[in-house]
Amino acid sequence: MKIKFCKTCKIYTLKDKCKKCGMDTATPHPPRFSPHDPYGEYRRKMKKQFWEENA
Ligand SMILES: [Zn+2]
Repeated sequence: MKIKFCKTCKIYTLKDKCKKCGMDTATPHPPRFSPHDPYGEYRRKMKKQFWEENA
C-alpha cells in the first residue's frame, strides 16, 4: 500500500491525485519526532485520517 500526501490539503491519501483539490500527491516524508519511534506519530496520524477520510 502506497501512501501519498497532499501538501496543499495536508492530508494523506492512496490516490495519485488529491480528491479534494485535484493536485498531484507526493510520497510523504515522515517527521522525526521521537528517536525511539520516529514513525509513531506519522503512523497514528495517517491511520486516524484514513478512517476519517476513507470510511
Ligand atoms: Zn489536496
